[in-house]
Amino acid sequence: MPDCNVTVFRDGTRTILFDVGAGADFMPTAGELPDALGQIGVSLDEVTHVVFTHAHPDHIWGVLDDFDDPLMPNATYLMGRREWDYWWNPETVNSIGPDRAAFAVGAKRRMEAIEGMVELVDDGQEILPGIAAHASFGHTPGHMSYEIRNGGQSVLILGDAVGNPHVAFERPDWPSGTDQDAAMAAATRARLLDHAAQDQMQVIGFHFPQSGIGRVERAGDAFRYVGETA
Ligand SMILES: [Zn+2]
Repeated sequence: MPDCNVTVFRDGTRTILFDVGAGADFMPTAGELPDALGQIGVSLDEVTHVVFTHAHPDHIWGVLDDFDDPLMPNATYLMGRREWDYWWNPETVNSIGPDRAAFAVGAKRRMEAIEGMVELVDDGQEILPGIAAHASFGHTPGHMSYEIRNGGQSVLILGDAVGNPHVAFERPDWPSGTDQDAAMAAATRARLLDHAAQDQMQVIGFHFPQSGIGRVERAGDAFRYVGETA
């Protein structure tokens, strides 16, 4: 299983998680979130917000505990409206194709468990103070990335809109088999990397190595990833 970088952002009032990982149901090596949070002094009870980039297993399945209750009982759960509507739709399990039908079943079950605690967000919306949603559709139909601004610093949480720090930077136009709409995802990737390079933002890729934090530099027609070791 590749690295899964759950981002934790604390602003003094809120404790915000971006995605929650896969949980123990997806793969035996997953399900380490509670321990990982404990190691940095964050208890599950104090998480105020969980913000999802998308509803794939390795991003949302960890949202429930062993009793199928929400793992973060006091949190508000935020997801892009289009993403929510896609996985909530009972037709999706039939239309998504056999390879991903289990994704649809698994997402729906978890979304039903948190339905009463969810707020849906739209492109361009300031979802929390200093945090804006950026539509980054393609990897999934309603994938969202999030920009955190804190004084002069900014960081772009890419989710899986940019899947890896190699090919996706050097050839952002190349289609990737992990993207549901490969052409749309390629256009999204180029746009996000351009934005991050232009504004000299930090980026965090969910599956990038070594905690996933880096910067984006232009390299001719393409881009280069400069990782920052945490
Ligand atoms: Zn992923």
